[in-house]
Amino acid sequence: MAKRDYYDVLGVARGASDADIKKAYRQKAKEHHPDRNAGKSDSEAKFKEVNEAYDALKDPEKKAAYDRFGHAAFEGGTGASAGARGGQRAYGGGDFASAFSDVFDDLFGDFAGQRGGGGGQPRATRGSDLRYNMRVTLEEAFAGAQKTINVPTSVQCEVCSGTGAEGGAEPTTCPTCSGMGKVRAQQGFFTVERTCPTCGGMGQIIKTPCRNCGGAGRVEKERALNVNIPAGVETGTRIRLGGEGEAGLRGGPSGDLYIFIDVKEHGLFQRDSENLFCRVPVAMSTAAMGGEIEVPTIDGGRSRVKIPEGSQSGRQMRLRGKGMPALRGGQRGDMFIELAVETPVNLTARQKELLREFAELSENNNPEGSSFFGKVKRFWDEMKG
Ligand SMILES: [Zn+2]
Ligand SMILES: [Zn+2]
Repeated sequence: MAKRDYYDVLGVARGASDADIKKAYRQKAKEHHPDRNAGKSDSEAKFKEVNEAYDALKDPEKKAAYDRFGHAAFEGGTGASAGARGGQRAYGGGDFASAFSDVFDDLFGDFAGQRGGGGGQPRATRGSDLRYNMRVTLEEAFAGAQKTINVPTSVQCEVCSGTGAEGGAEPTTCPTCSGMGKVRAQQGFFTVERTCPTCGGMGQIIKTPCRNCGGAGRVEKERALNVNIPAGVETGTRIRLGGEGEAGLRGGPSGDLYIFIDVKEHGLFQRDSENLFCRVPVAMSTAAMGGEIEVPTIDGGRSRVKIPEGSQSGRQMRLRGKGMPALRGGQRGDMFIELAVETPVNLTARQKELLREFAELSENNNPEGSSFFGKVKRFWDEMKG
């Protein structure tokens, strides 16, 4: 198949400005990026084609040559020095991995820090951060807790101490690129620089990879970790354990481990940050005559609460300092109780008799003047006209 014109590939006119070429390239590279085209078999070829075209047109020298000689400008490579594969197309047509890395850098910046630095220094890579979701009870959130969790993670290989080399030997400088990570090849009229194929740009090679980790310097492992859950955590609290994430690559620092807290619902208490709410049933007679009740507290104890005479359902009372502790210190919250007056059930004949008598007497001291019945009477009067 004939090679397409580079300007056509990028969809720009001959003589387009550098800025337009760059813009067109970015758009096309994104469009055909394999990450966005999973399953489309030709996206990789198109992506390469776009990359190759831009490689030629972004460089003034190459562009001038292309404008003069067309594709012939880059054909018939005169043999390549280090690492370049003979006969291969010269520009951007190298192996896919390097084309991919180049555009990835260009489009997305210094992705994951892996290719930063340059200069052929060995790339130590920071390990990933890990997230662990932990459910705790309200009691645990109140008192704090010690938990042991198993974290699946990769850790530094003990056999090679993370170097990836058998017997702990130091990696050696790549003989192909002398540690530069890049090689130069003479192609046509020009010298091209590309990622070293021997070390993949690392600048270093491991002659005998560690058998335990296969040269990666880290191995997969489940790690038991003791976690201190401080008192006062709530749903959404994040606890950061610095350096407890995935191990770094080739001596890079470890990532962090983040514990995301989720506090389970409680059967008795509802929580609103540092305050707790609890609905407490109270006997009708206690509510009417006043008295004392016992309410449970989150610390497992109980508190005595005075019920004033004539308390209605829904009455709220505050127990100072009986709520949750504050995560960052400071005062403990309060506990609010809401009274729910209970109607007695399963009455005996004697109880009914007493209640009937009570009802008769009530007509005298619970007259229509009470606010609700007063309002009802006024409502009816107005309706009648
Ligand atoms: Zn190892
Ligand atoms: Zn190399």
